[in-house]
Amino acid sequence: MKPEKRSGTAKLPLRRGGPAARIAVIPGDGIGKEVVPEAVKVLRAALKRPIEFVEFDWGADKYLRDGVSLPPGAVQMLREEFDAILFGALGDPRVPSNQHAADILFGLRFKLDLYVNARPVELLHDRLTPLRDRTEKHIRLMVIRENTEGLYVGVGGFFKKGTPDEVAVQEDVNTRKGVERIIRYAFDYARQNGLKRVCMSDKSNAMTFAHDLWQRVFKEVRQEYPGIDSRHLYIDTLAMELVRDPSQFDVIVTCNLFGDIISDLGAQLAGGLGLAPSGNIHPGSTSLFEPVHGSAPNIAGKGIANPLGAVLTSAMMLEFLGWNHEAAALREAVRASLRQNKFTTDLGGEMKTAELGDWLARFVKQRAQN
Ligand code: ATP
Repeated sequence: MKPEKRSGTAKLPLRRGGPAARIAVIPGDGIGKEVVPEAVKVLRAALKRPIEFVEFDWGADKYLRDGVSLPPGAVQMLREEFDAILFGALGDPRVPSNQHAADILFGLRFKLDLYVNARPVELLHDRLTPLRDRTEKHIRLMVIRENTEGLYVGVGGFFKKGTPDEVAVQEDVNTRKGVERIIRYAFDYARQNGLKRVCMSDKSNAMTFAHDLWQRVFKEVRQEYPGIDSRHLYIDTLAMELVRDPSQFDVIVTCNLFGDIISDLGAQLAGGLGLAPSGNIHPGSTSLFEPVHGSAPNIAGKGIANPLGAVLTSAMMLEFLGWNHEAAALREAVRASLRQNKFTTDLGGEMKTAELGDWLARFVKQRAQN
């Protein structure tokens, strides 16, 4: 059974990297429902090519109403019928277990095998970094996080739960295939983007089995990329070095848990959660793009969420589709808004989410006409 579609026009042919595209839009919960429509607005203004957006109402409302999180058949449908997924955020105080979020997001990540979590850290305006004397030229790097293994696979359990003798075990799962493909992706990303430095980060001095595998694979794979300066840092050292001097990094590759943490640190170096984009990628297959921020229930429904993270996420999606020209237009619009003090409240401005979305859409439209 195919999940019900909420909207949609004539079906366009599925040609990844081709002249047309079908995008599944999943706004989700909270501010996801506010920022994603703005991103779609800006995308529509930027794109002259045929692009179809099909929206799905998966999230807390549907879960509470129908008991359905990720509908049956959803993964196959997304894989077969869509080029990419534009995702908002999941999380709602009415679902304290967050079960629907786990079902949907982890379901898509694992079942679509989105093994790359690409999280760029790019300072777009000098005033946005909390670091002293650092400018745009110092903060521009890519965090490549392994996205399908590690501590997130859910292997583990309790023993004597709720008693004073309780034991809780969570297994860190690392496969040769999984480690190799993410390290290789990081080197390929560097090579394709003319970047010269790849840093692999682990905790192999303490995690002497799991991260010994990372060490061995890294040493093997780096041999194949002689033009790239590769180095290793323990994750604690990386955290320090990122704050001390982020300009020493081009590409960082690390495991699922460390990537989650280090990319949030990176997001703050570049202006905060409201601005940070990410891609959950399986090269050559349907991939999912989402802003790094969550559903932010504390500001949801007020129309004040910053849509820039969702717009930069859309630019990443366009690059994945091979539409670099339009992606550049979106990035230019975001830069222009920051230069011209068009801010939402999180960055010290007064603009509403939709107002900023309108401004960005007008900007890309005018740019396309010139
Ligand atoms: P999750 O656990 O899903 O990450 P969360 O509510 O703990 O959700 P976020 O939603 O990522 O964390 O946001 C943390 C805080 O950052 C929010 O409460 C909000 O104040 C701020 N924030 C996040 N994203 C935005 C945004 N786009 N615009 C403005 N403020 C934001």
